[in-house]
Amino acid sequence: MLIVMNPHVNEREVEVVCRRIREAGLTPHPIPGTTRVAIGVTGNTAPVDPEPFRELPGVVDVIRVTRPYKLTSREMRPDDTIIEVGGVRIGAERPVVIAGPCSVESYEQTVETALRVRSLGAHLLRGGAFKPRSSPYSFQGLGVRGLEILAEARAVTGLPLVTEAVGTEVFDRVEQTADVVQIGARSMQNFPLLKRAGASRRPVLLKRMMSATLEEFLLAAEYIMAEGNHNVILCERGIRTFGEHSRYTLDINIIPELKRVSHLPVFVDPSHAAGRRQNVIPLARAALAAGADGLLVEVHPAPDQALSDGMQSLTLDAFEELMSDLPRWTPSARPAEVHVP
Ligand code: PEP
Ligand code: MN
Repeated sequence: MLIVMNPHVNEREVEVVCRRIREAGLTPHPIPGTTRVAIGVTGNTAPVDPEPFRELPGVVDVIRVTRPYKLTSREMRPDDTIIEVGGVRIGAERPVVIAGPCSVESYEQTVETALRVRSLGAHLLRGGAFKPRSSPYSFQGLGVRGLEILAEARAVTGLPLVTEAVGTEVFDRVEQTADVVQIGARSMQNFPLLKRAGASRRPVLLKRMMSATLEEFLLAAEYIMAEGNHNVILCERGIRTFGEHSRYTLDINIIPELKRVSHLPVFVDPSHAAGRRQNVIPLARAALAAGADGLLVEVHPAPDQALSDGMQSLTLDAFEELMSDLPRWTPSARPAEVHVP
């Protein structure tokens, strides 16, 4: 349920409504907006009677939210969510590029990549310190040393960091260093991890599980938001289909669909979808043309020697090629309004 307040409402009136929601055993979520103040209501298992809320001072309307996901939906918040990280505005007019190696391997590899991607226009640095690998025998990441190297790369370049927390046991340590905490595709339904991310003050980049429907993806984001963290970035990274010509199938369809039903920023990771370097740039361009708010791209100074995902990592020269004509692939006029049926 969504309680829409008069645009000139004062803090006391909002607090009175929030108190009444809590008294009913429900959870209030004040939602700031440019055109209206609203309070989302969650926690009900059956429809809530809207009438007692309609009479409270400052309330102009009470709307039932029909979708199973609530806080992530545009019904709750018509305005796009914009997330600021180290001066970078994510989900705003210009696409944001997060670039860097799949894994942090050494100080030299990380700092060299960070300096180059920054000079080519990347906004944030990615790099895994804790890696979710399909095989227990594959490189698992440098762990805490990897986080220290990332912090050193940030000190040298000023680039904010995106790095993954693979479980609740490492979350505290990861959020000490990360500017954005990544939750990987395989963890998208690790509900304790989602709840822990919801209690964090760091923005979260949530990757879509390779078998998740749009609804399951948004419900995973809902877990994070329901705990109070509203800074969630959705990231499509390819789904599993019968196609064998690529590692995964990039679901371009989900980009406009997510933008339509949700206010959260939508990123695309063309690297994991393609699995092969030569297809990463075309997929990145397609993602931007379809309305993605940004890209998450793997870049390595010597991909043939990479300890993970070298086949899909762009060389520094290829990353330069991608960055050289990004604006060409970005729709100049975004639709001003998204119609919600
Ligand atoms: C990654 O970003 O390196 C990664 C492991 O991604 P995903 O969780 O999408 O497989
Ligand atoms: Mn990877």
